Amino acid sequence: MRHFAVIGSGPAGFYTAEALAKAYGDAAKIDIIDKLPVPYGLIRFGVAPDHQSIKAVSRRYDKVAEGGTVRFLGNVAVGEAVSIEELKQLYDGVILATGAPNDRKLGITGEDLPGVVGSAAFVGWYNGHPEFAGLDPLLDGAAAAVIGNGNVALDVARILAKTRAEFAGSDIVAHALDSLDASAIRTITIVGRRGPHQIAMTAKELGELGHLDGTVPHVDPADLPVAEADGALDPGTRKSVAHLRDFAQPHADKPKHIEFDFFARPVAIEGEGRAERLIVERTALDAAGQSIGTGETYAIPASLIVSCIGYHTPRIDGVPYDERGGKFANDGGVIGDGLYCVGWARRGPSGTIGTNRPDGYEVAECIAALLPASDGNEKRGGEGLDTLLTARMVRATSFDDWRTIEAAETAAARPDAPREKIVYHADWLAVLGHPQP
Ligand SMILES: Cc1cc2nc3c(=O)[nH]c(=O)nc-3n(C[C@H](O)[C@H](O)[C@H](O)COP(=O)(O)OP(=O)(O)OC[C@H]3O[C@@H](n4cnc5c(N)ncnc54)[C@H](O)[C@@H]3O)c2cc1C
Repeated sequence: MRHFAVIGSGPAGFYTAEALAKAYGDAAKIDIIDKLPVPYGLIRFGVAPDHQSIKAVSRRYDKVAEGGTVRFLGNVAVGEAVSIEELKQLYDGVILATGAPNDRKLGITGEDLPGVVGSAAFVGWYNGHPEFAGLDPLLDGAAAAVIGNGNVALDVARILAKTRAEFAGSDIVAHALDSLDASAIRTITIVGRRGPHQIAMTAKELGELGHLDGTVPHVDPADLPVAEADGALDPGTRKSVAHLRDFAQPHADKPKHIEFDFFARPVAIEGEGRAERLIVERTALDAAGQSIGTGETYAIPASLIVSCIGYHTPRIDGVPYDERGGKFANDGGVIGDGLYCVGWARRGPSGTIGTNRPDGYEVAECIAALLPASDGNEKRGGEGLDTLLTARMVRATSFDDWRTIEAAETAAARPDAPREKIVYHADWLAVLGHPQP
């Protein structure tokens, strides 16, 4: 029997476990370990709550967890409850699928002012992530700025823009729904260093902005390249740019506005005791399509500033780290003897949920090629981990526990907040019959 520990229960972790289960059949036992008591990583805590069809991919992961070969252990933070060295002693292979949950810093003055938040924190807040549910972002001003030109920036702008009724059918947590409903924000400026042709926003997500009940998006026509230039774009970007061209046309006014501010590089955040304005430098593109500052600066009023400029993977003791890439140092997913990585922890924070499937399969195939079904020298695997966790009084959650928590969440739902995620407060322990001391 081979024993594998996959650290992280997001898409990368589940696809890798699925691939290992297929490669080894009954000859392997696989533990998926997560620091949170519930599975699915960014599917549950990152993907926007009003994009339920995307979250449905977790049903495929359920089948993996219920297949008999794979076991889920939540509430076990690797690097804290158990070390990498200990896991390497217990398992034939340890695969890090820990994602890239830390926000990249803007690196400008004023970024520590109240009112400035990273997207991991902001997204975690409205998705009920235990580490960020208490964020309580400042929504009392009239204007917000969202920095970045990718889909996460679009998610954040859309969530700030929607009316309460537009969250029907979502799984936004009640505390965020109530705060957003009371929000004073009327103008949301999306700030990007480069222009419409350089965006990383997909057409479907951009198109949604044109159909909001109370918000109208606006692009300055002067920022758009000549229409003939769109022909050189890849088909996806061309579709996205078509939406931007539409947003540059006059549309019926609505109470809230999303303003696209292209060719603007954040240089400082100013305010008396809290963020009041984002200072940006006007940019132009050089011959290579990179943004260069023009020296002209101006202020964008904003008392909430959400930076959506990327993420990095947190370090874990004993694991070599690629400083520049903000991920684990690896060669095709191999970190070192018996240690591997997949997903965002391997590649950095790019690609969709689906990108993690070939990624996980590739690393699983590499492991299967390196490790034959069994060499008769069996490690202790999950049994050894259970003994260690019990001795340390770590109460790991099982997949059945997750089902119990999920049922409690559904029961706690309100008509306008269909699923009340309970893992951000102590109730989940009580639900499992383990009240906190
Ligand atoms: C805001 C946002 C919205 C997105 N929306 C979409 C979308 O709509 N469609 C789409 O296709 N893609 C979307 N993505 C991208 C998608 O979520 C990622 O491609 C995918 O989640 C990456 O998978 P992963 O398994 O590498 O990381 P993650 O999903 O982040 O999973 C990592 C897991 O590791 C656990 N973990 C971390 N550290 C430890 C530790 N020390 N010990 C134990 N466990 C640990 C975490 O708790 C987490 O469960 C979005 C991403 C973001 C940030």
